[in-house]
Amino acid sequence: MELKNKISEEFNKRFNKPGSVYASAGRINLIGEHTDYNGGFVFPGAIDKVIMAKIAPNDTDKVRVYSVDLDDYAEFGLNEADAPKASWARYIFGVCREVIKRGGIVKGFDTVFAGNVPLGAGLSSSAALESCFAFAINDLFNDNSIDKFELAKIGQSTEHNYCGVNCGIMDQFASIMGKADKLMRLDCRSMEFEYFPFAPEDYELILIDSRVKHELADSPYNKRRASCERVAKRLGLDTLRDATMPLLNSIRTDITAEDYFRAKFVIEEKERVLAVCDALNAGDYETVGRMMYETHRGLSDDYEVSCEELDFLNDIARECGVTGSRIMGGGFGGCTINLVKKGLSDKFIETAKTRFNERYGHEPQVYPVVICDGAHIVD
Ligand code: ADP
Ligand code: MG
Repeated sequence: MELKNKISEEFNKRFNKPGSVYASAGRINLIGEHTDYNGGFVFPGAIDKVIMAKIAPNDTDKVRVYSVDLDDYAEFGLNEADAPKASWARYIFGVCREVIKRGGIVKGFDTVFAGNVPLGAGLSSSAALESCFAFAINDLFNDNSIDKFELAKIGQSTEHNYCGVNCGIMDQFASIMGKADKLMRLDCRSMEFEYFPFAPEDYELILIDSRVKHELADSPYNKRRASCERVAKRLGLDTLRDATMPLLNSIRTDITAEDYFRAKFVIEEKERVLAVCDALNAGDYETVGRMMYETHRGLSDDYEVSCEELDFLNDIARECGVTGSRIMGGGFGGCTINLVKKGLSDKFIETAKTRFNERYGHEPQVYPVVICDGAHIVD
């Protein structure tokens, strides 16, 4: 059943009054990986997978919320001591608290929500959930006086302070600010952003979720970060943002081979993001695809955050003649994002499913995605 009908029916059953419907989206990141903590660029967009909520103020100081997908109900007040136990409800409670902390208004409300962003697949269902409620609270109680970028920060602070996830701003930013047929280049140093056209007529985006996650013993994320910081320091820079390959090569003999290749990836990735901007302005999706393959190679060989399953999916994409393919996200599992010529997608999906299954004993999940509006009023 269509999402809107599903939540409306349930809302009427439980609360039996009129309400407003809001939605916000999951996200992809086309290119720009491991760049945020290096002061670089990311390149996300909102997708046609959303969390949708029907909401009505209830003239109390309590929030009453039903999750259709989890078939679970929670009720909580708006003070710090009222935090709900259920982790899904803490996302909503956190958003309320972060609005209040910033001097915004939140009153009690009744709500039913549901979504079709796959949970934990790397498409940021949690950011979609936070953004949906942050956007709704801004519209219902604050006359939309809270700046949209601040709404993204409200979602990010929710993850930090109420959900124990120390994330960057990209996911919530994309979910809130996304526009149909546009990707956004976000500068993680200045927080400036710019929209670029992404409306390929002859290509589609297909995510292939390996459904594996390798938990590695010695926190590889922190080790990568430390490498980048060491090289930046050696170059007299705050971050690798301002580093160049000639600069890096000038200190090559003074640093370890490992640190050299980590920094090389970061520098080249920044250059690839800028190349993708030019390519999108020119409608040149072949170049975009080539950059995606180069990112994958860099993540796999230089940054060493890939894994066998993701390299396997990348090889299959190449064999099938897919235009671009790479790991999406931090690595060690999760999805590949693929830019696929229309007409080729059925064969690619079939081949990826069959071959992956033969080798690893389970089929990957496949999610075709379209770049759509982020947070918005539905009704
Ligand atoms: P993701 O990468 O998808 O953001 P997270 O683990 O960060 O994965 O967030 C997933 C959590 O967000 C779920 O465990 C749940 O608490 C909440 N969530 C996401 N989508 C829904 C939904 N449709 N209904 C209820 N809770 C949801
Ligand atoms: Mg999340």
